[in-house]
Amino acid sequence: MTIAEEDYLKVILKLELAQEELHARVTTNQVAEVIQTKPSSVTDMLKRLKEKSLVDYIKYKGIKLTGAGRKQALCLIRRHRLWETFLVEKLGLSWKTVHPVAEQLEHVHSDELLERLDEFLGHPAFDPHGEPIPNGEGKLPGCDGELMTTVKAGKNYTFMGIKEPTDTLLSYLDKIKLNIGSIFHVQDVEAYNGSVELEMGGKVCFLTYDVANKLVVKVNEKHENKN
Ligand SMILES: [Zn+2]
Repeated sequence: MTIAEEDYLKVILKLELAQEELHARVTTNQVAEVIQTKPSSVTDMLKRLKEKSLVDYIKYKGIKLTGAGRKQALCLIRRHRLWETFLVEKLGLSWKTVHPVAEQLEHVHSDELLERLDEFLGHPAFDPHGEPIPNGEGKLPGCDGELMTTVKAGKNYTFMGIKEPTDTLLSYLDKIKLNIGSIFHVQDVEAYNGSVELEMGGKVCFLTYDVANKLVVKVNEKHENKN
């Protein structure tokens, strides 16, 4: 498989996971938007992937990964997230800089290397951005978190992870010192626009709905509000 083919499988899987509850098939336009290419180029690639039995593609009806395609895509995500964990935890790189490096490393095919890496890291279930790492069988660990858009005023939460981390979002979280594992207290949720007022380590900060909609959090009943 080429790197481009692998990247397509990964993009399709991420789109499928994002709309799983809707039971909708991924569309050519959605893929074109993520890859930033013309829908006609996507169609060409889909035909190639279909020939390899990796996607089930029906013109005008959209795309679905086959079992084999999904397995490959999960393996790529596993490699990517294990490498990111290694780069941050063992080499001390910033969580902002590791993504482009992991984008390259994920295309290194060596089952032995990957299993050793997983073992070396102690079989982590989440990467440094709090995204789930598929295990060796391609199963994603369950996350019982919720999006920050559903938090309730007066409760404490732990920050678990980011949905689709981007450079700018990670820089912003660095700036307000919201790290994976941070515990905060929700003071208010603005009914008008869904912005969240939170208190963390004695500091108050406001998150817009757009930011809250990218953050995964979990109610923290054990902790009093101290950081
Ligand atoms: Zn990444």
